[in-house]
Amino acid sequence: MTEPTHETGGNTALVLFSGGQDSATCLAWALARFSRVETLGFDYCQRHAVELDCRAALINGIKAIHPDWAKRLGEEHTLAIPTLSAISDTALTRDVAIEMGEGGLPNTFVPGRNLIFLTFAAALAYRRGIRHVVGGMCETDYSGYPDCRDDTIKALQVALNLGMDRRFVLHTPLMWRDKAQTWALAHELGGSALVDLIREQSHTCYLGERGARHEWGYGCGECPACQLRAKGWQQFAAASRAG
Ligand code: ZN
Repeated sequence: MTEPTHETGGNTALVLFSGGQDSATCLAWALARFSRVETLGFDYCQRHAVELDCRAALINGIKAIHPDWAKRLGEEHTLAIPTLSAISDTALTRDVAIEMGEGGLPNTFVPGRNLIFLTFAAALAYRRGIRHVVGGMCETDYSGYPDCRDDTIKALQVALNLGMDRRFVLHTPLMWRDKAQTWALAHELGGSALVDLIREQSHTCYLGERGARHEWGYGCGECPACQLRAKGWQQFAAASRAG
């Protein structure tokens, strides 16, 4: 008896792909594991919408790094969720300074953003017969976003499977890695070529700044996302020199 397949999508993955460092690394991780990989980005009127424009350069670069990966890459999806900015009042969607707010959360927090993203992703995966959904949520370096926690993702996986009567698997390969380890994972998956591609073409800065080029890539250098990226890069670079 042949192993039962999960509809047609047993070995297909849908990667939440924003154009940032984490999601670019997740894309490479998925390409190394699944025979077919589709991507999904969200347009929610984010101030750093420039990250969505980074996706094409990243995908072209990834195709050039590995011929097998080029063959595995499938459809690229973008879903617009303008509602998210209409119900949020945060520094990610409005032109205000990024700072710590009440309850110890930075005002970049869009309530429930990852729950919404993963639910839309699962609905799309359902329609396309895809079983595996991959996201860059991370509990290690996180800014206190409760929707990035491992328990949140696990609970959502249960809810989605009950609510859609499917056996989705939500993969979060970065959950227990800090930013330096995320760079190391990119190196493991695609060598210096992938590290250089992500450094040059991925976008992290919350302010959407791509003017200044630092050794870790482009960004304002001041916002929490830039600082985290810079710190991770410096640790990774130091470890690479030592090793
Ligand atoms: Zn920045």
